[in-house]
Amino acid sequence: MNLKELSSLNVLEKNLGSSTGSNWFASGKQFDSFSPTNGKYIGSVLSTTKAEYEQIIKKAEEAKLYWRDIPAPKRGEIIRQLGDKLRQEKEILGKLVSYEMGKSYQEGLGEVQEMIDICDFAVGLSRQLYGNTIHSERPGHRMYDQYHPLGIVGIITAFNFPVAVWAWNAALALVCGNVIVWKPSEKTPLCAIACQNIMAQILKENNLPEGISSVVTGDAEVGKWIAEDERITLVSATGSTRMGKQVAVTVANRLGKTLLELGGNNAIIVTPSADLKMTIIGAVFGAVGTAGQRCTSTRRLIVHEDVYDKVKSSLVEAYKQIKIGDPLDSNNHMGPLIDTDAVAMYLDALNQIKEQGGNILVEGKVLEGEGYESGCYVTPVIAEVENHYPIVQDETFAPILYLIKYSGEVQNAIEIQNSVKQGLSSAIMTTNLRESELFLSQNGSDCGIANVNIGTSGAEIGGAFGGEKETGGGRESGSDAWKIYMRRQTNTINYTTSLPLAQGIKFVL
Ligand code: NAD
Repeated sequence: MNLKELSSLNVLEKNLGSSTGSNWFASGKQFDSFSPTNGKYIGSVLSTTKAEYEQIIKKAEEAKLYWRDIPAPKRGEIIRQLGDKLRQEKEILGKLVSYEMGKSYQEGLGEVQEMIDICDFAVGLSRQLYGNTIHSERPGHRMYDQYHPLGIVGIITAFNFPVAVWAWNAALALVCGNVIVWKPSEKTPLCAIACQNIMAQILKENNLPEGISSVVTGDAEVGKWIAEDERITLVSATGSTRMGKQVAVTVANRLGKTLLELGGNNAIIVTPSADLKMTIIGAVFGAVGTAGQRCTSTRRLIVHEDVYDKVKSSLVEAYKQIKIGDPLDSNNHMGPLIDTDAVAMYLDALNQIKEQGGNILVEGKVLEGEGYESGCYVTPVIAEVENHYPIVQDETFAPILYLIKYSGEVQNAIEIQNSVKQGLSSAIMTTNLRESELFLSQNGSDCGIANVNIGTSGAEIGGAFGGEKETGGGRESGSDAWKIYMRRQTNTINYTTSLPLAQGIKFVL
């Protein structure tokens, strides 16, 4: 790709340490961003020092007092402008996502579209931050609940959705009257700077304080400052379960609020009545899309013995057609892993599968030669395993699909599916109503997302997104996920001349 194309996003300066009119100051350690697509240098970002972090939070605290007094529909107007700006920048930002993170250009565009969609959702929401009215047990009393902004929301994000996860949080948190401080992944800093530049420009055009939306750059250490900081009321953290456990403990220690979106170990159950054509497309996209680096990637296929051989041979055939290469070339289905550390983890997982007794059906390797110079391109793997293998319990962030056989009733497959620690996304392929309803019932999938005749990845913004168990329990995006970004207040008003007490308690003076 021609790097000059990215210059409109202002992300290519070397030693970038601040962006114009934006609440981001950084003069600390330099980290360089290389594209996993070709190994080429894109740009450098400096990390925020502790002193600069303090300056940023000070500005955020000042901005919070201003922003919460702006009526919610007027806050929505700023998010409308953000959505419009993202529409204008969709192609170029989508390219940057693809180039810096390594996902296909189509998926990069999809990520920016998700940002636009959540902005639209948040604009409507800005006129609907409803509470309830409640009938009081006391005569002449009125009760209701209402929602107020929390203050500062900290957003820690992962590399694999370098812009959309920020937007999910930012759009909702901002219409809810909060200011935001974002700690993006150190693996995709330029995507974050691009978003910050877009947001900062909108704030400037509207004469709003820059502290409404800030960025702090750096590694896990900077994330820890956010987790520890009592001034940050809610910490929304997306990333590995390992990270989430640390953030949860730190924030709980100060009785702060968390919204955790952590790792998954997602399965598709394939029943005897499944439409096998749909199953294969759903499974292959779920397993190899984003090179298996989605939190919702399909990791396990739990297949009934009656259709097992057919599914197995169709999958192996389908994998032969997968084209691997530059994600900006739309002929390719799969791009690279994020970096060579991820490649090492993939290779380690392959060894473990073999050591633990797995049967590799489609062998994995690291690709070499022309077009693969970054050393980050691997081939997708299919392995027959049993669900109890230690390696199957882990989320290996790579395109490795486990094939697991079940027999008997669908309840047996559901038990296999639920017997891992993670609980993000799940799916069943069936044309049998009894099976699908059981899967969706309280005795069915224990995941935050349960789909019928759709794969595990590719959620829409309208629903609440997130998972149970070690996935962290958080919900982001649609439905009533906005409530986590606000504090609820219950109000009781007495418009009589007497003071009756609740529960009929008598207190006479
Ligand atoms: P990661 O946990 O290595 O890093 C995520 C972010 O957390 C980074 O910004 C990192 O700097 C920061 N961080 C790391 N340790 C920290 C600590 N102790 N305190 C504060 N911040 C800390 O994850 P990654 O490799 O960037 O992303 C992949 C992981 O993210 C996968 O497990 C994937 O499933 C998960 N993920 C989950 C969702 C979801 O919605 N459930 C979405 C995207 C990614």
